[in-house]
Amino acid sequence: MRLANLEGRATIVTDDGLIDVATSSQGAFSTSVDKCISQLALLQRWYESAQPAIGEATTPAELFGDRRLGPVVTNPQQIFAIGVNYRSHAEEMNRTLPEEPMVFTKFVSALCGPNDELPVPSDTTDFEVELVAIIGATARNLSEELALTAVAGYCVGQDFSERTLQMKGSPSQFSLAKSFRHFMPIGPWLTTPDELGDVNKLSIGCRVNDIQYQASNTDDMVFGVAQLVTYLSNVVELRPGDVIFTGSPHGVGVARRPPIFLKPGDRVVSEIEGLGRIENQAV
Ligand code: ZN
Repeated sequence: MRLANLEGRATIVTDDGLIDVATSSQGAFSTSVDKCISQLALLQRWYESAQPAIGEATTPAELFGDRRLGPVVTNPQQIFAIGVNYRSHAEEMNRTLPEEPMVFTKFVSALCGPNDELPVPSDTTDFEVELVAIIGATARNLSEELALTAVAGYCVGQDFSERTLQMKGSPSQFSLAKSFRHFMPIGPWLTTPDELGDVNKLSIGCRVNDIQYQASNTDDMVFGVAQLVTYLSNVVELRPGDVIFTGSPHGVGVARRPPIFLKPGDRVVSEIEGLGRIENQAV
């Protein structure tokens, strides 16, 4: 199942069209994506058994028209991001592989929709395409075997990063530098794990103005999704709607010679196999 936030309403996306969750379920499920994610298994069971009528059957290109897709979760209590979690990215940054996940946060006010504009705050703003896991259950102390049962689904994310602020202090400060306005687009929708196959075997890439800068596979991660969920849940309580940015592959702008940074007018396209694409225009 693919669950989107269309103009603030939880909407199931099918190959044939859209299903407004609250309307089709006659109010059994909320208009809020956050509430739907906290009861996603129930929602999916309803969707598969009730076979709700598709409200708007259109071609994929006409699916959303001028309507805005919002972030697939709007009010997460916790947002985790993982640094240096691809072998190839560690190499290009001249970093040794971490022995434990390197965890920081992105602040929630940076969250935005998959196609929102990116106001560029400086001339050292960088891109990082990332696989994003959305938590669907309250969980602590998960084993690696059970870890993925706490994941509601996955989407594409951008961990936009302002490198000057990030590297300014000692030690460096990741969280603020990655939390400017619209520095956290996610989407285009949440895809449930059953539609995806092996989450640690997906091609992942990012293009800027049609030039491919990042092209990798989630099999290059140092810590896979289950390991990350296990690690986090053995410290904090995970809650429905929590967001985990799982790290960026190689090819980021700051690691290039000369470095490449985003400027107004640039079009950033981020894609992951099976999850779709998000597109953000720098302004
Ligand atoms: Zn990142």
